[in-house]
Amino acid sequence: MKKTVFSAMRPTGKLHLGHLVGALHNWLKLQEEYTCLFCIVDWHAYMGEYEYSRDIQDNIFEMAVDWLACGIDPEKSIIFVQSQVPEHLILHMIFSCVTPLGWLERNPTYKEQLREIKTRDLQTYGFLGYPVLQAADILLYKANAVPIGEDQLPHIELTREIGRRFNHLYKKEFFHDAEALLTETPRLLGLDGRKMSKSYQNAVNLSDSPENIKSKIKNMFTDPKRIRLSDPGHPEECNVYSYYSVFAPEKKEDVYQWCTKAQKGCTECKMIFAEALIKHLAPIQQKRKEFEGNKARVQETLNDGQTRAQRIARETLHEVREIIFG
Ligand code: SF4
Repeated sequence: MKKTVFSAMRPTGKLHLGHLVGALHNWLKLQEEYTCLFCIVDWHAYMGEYEYSRDIQDNIFEMAVDWLACGIDPEKSIIFVQSQVPEHLILHMIFSCVTPLGWLERNPTYKEQLREIKTRDLQTYGFLGYPVLQAADILLYKANAVPIGEDQLPHIELTREIGRRFNHLYKKEFFHDAEALLTETPRLLGLDGRKMSKSYQNAVNLSDSPENIKSKIKNMFTDPKRIRLSDPGHPEECNVYSYYSVFAPEKKEDVYQWCTKAQKGCTECKMIFAEALIKHLAPIQQKRKEFEGNKARVQETLNDGQTRAQRIARETLHEVREIIFG
């Protein structure tokens, strides 16, 4: 029996290079080894974006297209939309009743988001329960593992605590601790050197046209110490060089040479990188076009994913009801 992995993304906008190297590359490996459930968590998107909910539907389709174009394979993995499996909300409701308020109020991510995000009103009952829905997502499928980065460890710990509390209350070892699959992903900053984020508009999207990619890369921040063309650069301090490392590692040696010896200027270096990136994304964009043009096939994939996910979810929920109500 293969172990089960659950992973998710919120459909809040176009996928960018950060998603590709931070999650999708890893998912491609995981789907060879595990039974993977890849979920488009639209209720989670709604919790934070309830004022702009009209976009969520389009974003779901775009996200499914991006996943498929990147090679997430519905023959190997279950690809589905959270809101199409209502059992997520039922288990969320049950967990909401057993989760102490203090656990949620103390959650560092919750506190940070309330502090940092000023463009949306997140002081809602629903948003406080965001990690409770995450726990429901994971435990509904009795997932053995969840791929996460170091910064998400508190989330998985809360999922474990909620599962353990349920077990303790009903005196049954039903939910097991999900393991955190800590994944080392290359750190890719945004084009301006800040954290890559949709809200900073500092990312290359997987769907960007070659012209758009060129213009974004042209404006990328480089080594701040290299002011004149004749100044030798410091590649290890340059964001463009770190992009070369991820998307065109075969060119790294040349870049190092021309940069440290001031043989090429930054604009030329960036344009060479833009061409390499366009080439790297070409197969994904080609597949993107095919899926975009075949909405019925994408919808079929999501419907099939719903059926397969719901089969597992219903069984778990049936057992949960038996445990609670006898
Ligand atoms: Fe960065 Fe390339 Fe300029 Fe060197 S030449 S500082 S690697 S953009």
